[in-house]
Amino acid sequence: MLPFDYERASTVREALAACAGSSEMPPTGAPSQFIAGGTNMSDYMRLGVTRPSHLMDINLIQDASLRTIEIGSLEIRLGALVRMSEVEDHQEISRRCPMLPESLKVAASRQIRNMATLAGNVLQRTRCEYFREISWPCNKRNPGSGCSAMDGFNRQHAVLGVSDACIATYHGDFAQALIALDATVEIAGQGANRRIRFAELHLQPGDNPEVETVLRPDEMITAIVISVPGWAARSKYLKIRDRESYAFALASTAVALDLDGDIVRDVRIGLGGVASVPWRAVPAEDVLRGKIFSEDLASKAADAAFANAKPREHNAFKVALGKQTLVRALMEVREMKL
Ligand SMILES: Cc1cc2nc3c(=O)[nH]c(=O)nc-3n(C[C@H](O)[C@H](O)[C@H](O)COP(=O)(O)OP(=O)(O)OC[C@H]3O[C@@H](n4cnc5c(N)ncnc54)[C@H](O)[C@@H]3O)c2cc1C
Ligand code: SF4
Repeated sequence: MLPFDYERASTVREALAACAGSSEMPPTGAPSQFIAGGTNMSDYMRLGVTRPSHLMDINLIQDASLRTIEIGSLEIRLGALVRMSEVEDHQEISRRCPMLPESLKVAASRQIRNMATLAGNVLQRTRCEYFREISWPCNKRNPGSGCSAMDGFNRQHAVLGVSDACIATYHGDFAQALIALDATVEIAGQGANRRIRFAELHLQPGDNPEVETVLRPDEMITAIVISVPGWAARSKYLKIRDRESYAFALASTAVALDLDGDIVRDVRIGLGGVASVPWRAVPAEDVLRGKIFSEDLASKAADAAFANAKPREHNAFKVALGKQTLVRALMEVREMKL
């Protein structure tokens, strides 16, 4: 690990000022970067992938709203520094929208979830083996150097939202529930504060896979706000992985279903483990909405979700697995008693 300076911010402004002035977008090259739970940042610094010369610890910022869970009648506001385990354990959130805590409960380990924050979680970096091992060419880590995964061992890699420059998967779980619910992100900036849809936060790789989000170096996530309709009580997060704990998703789905008898009034679907960014399966939702629910319809929706998949040599199984995961989740959610 390279030497670095470490500082603790006591206000949001102080934190932002420290990270201002960099022309590099975080998290790849910016010299000064935030650290929250540190479980992702310390991992990538140790591997030499991320090399900030200055770390700004945001944990002690004296703004309680960063650490608060607010439950309104229509919205849930989660401060950026709320720990994953706090939402996982929250009875009211679990009652109102089971897929939110479920997506956290199956991530990492309880020890990590006690440390890791919600903002840090949604900004976690890909687990692409070639990205993590710095001796390999990788466009995301070293722009223009090539993509070792393209013709390498790409079993873990994405089939949706990929480009000729990068096929890395976005591995987080919680983000799939957030994108399904069309959550909003509150961002504090040196110039002004702003709110964006969660769906706009992450960028597909395109020609510049090193730029992963729309956040500027001097911007910090302060909260995630989720509109939770009453029918989100009929929701679940299903994660398929190589082993039953402490593993990233091969395929996962966050599903919420609004039923009027057997008719699908509304539906939200997020897909994990298969795409380059948190992925909302809009074509699948369109197939289901307004129709009488059946397993056959769920299969048609799954086909639509993966119609534009671009599998490579070792990850073609993700298309079938992703479809089966979605069909199973839809069938299980349909059976939920409210
Ligand atoms: C062994 C292991 C297994 C794991 N398994 C899973 C899994 O199955 N599913 C899953 O979803 N995750 C998994 N993870 C990832 C884990 O959930 C993340 O490491 C964690 O959520 C990151 O949160 P953090 O607060 O520690 O982030 P940090 O490491 O502190 O930060 C991560 C990034 O976010 C930036 N950042 C943090 N807070 C802010 C903010 N408020 N505003 C702007 N930028 C910010 C940092 O600068 C950094 O770039 C695993 C991790 C490990 C080590
Ligand atoms: S898939 Fe992306 S992160 Fe992985 S080696 Fe290729 S460019 Fe790098």
